[in-house]
Amino acid sequence: MGTRGREIIGMNVDHLIDLLNQAYASEWLAYYQYWLGAKLIKGPMKDAVAAELTLHATEELAHAMLVANRILQLGGTPVLTPEGWAKVSPCAYDAPADPYVAVLLDQNIAGEQCAITTYKNLMDATKDKDMVTYNMALGILEQEIEHEEDLQSLREDLDLMASRGAN
Ligand code: FE
Ligand code: FE
Ligand code: MG
Repeated sequence: MGTRGREIIGMNVDHLIDLLNQAYASEWLAYYQYWLGAKLIKGPMKDAVAAELTLHATEELAHAMLVANRILQLGGTPVLTPEGWAKVSPCAYDAPADPYVAVLLDQNIAGEQCAITTYKNLMDATKDKDMVTYNMALGILEQEIEHEEDLQSLREDLDLMASRGAN
């Protein structure tokens, strides 16, 4: 850990590390939910949706790396076990038990909405207190907002196809 880098933080660092670990745990759950969903998916537009799910999986993993690096910089320890991910994450893990496209999209949209809330909260907590974490959270938040919109627009296409595609 960098001592001066830690000193300039204007908030309780242990609390900050807890918040970061919540985001970190959520990223791993999101990664696996996307990654496995992309393999199992069935139904109309499945190739287009699977490609998006796979891309999002890699982006969630990149978020996990960014957050882990920040936790380590601050002298913290990233959640050590997969059991810990479920315990610490504020976002639910929705198992892709039903592989139908619309179900997977809805589950992952809910996941993105939870991620958006998580990073918004991290930004609120670090604003004017920890610029480095704030800036990281902003970059990730931008991508989570993009993810939500990607999935909602695929969901809309699927609905259009269902209502008009037969004609
Ligand atoms: Fe993410
Ligand atoms: Fe995301
Ligand atoms: Mg995308």
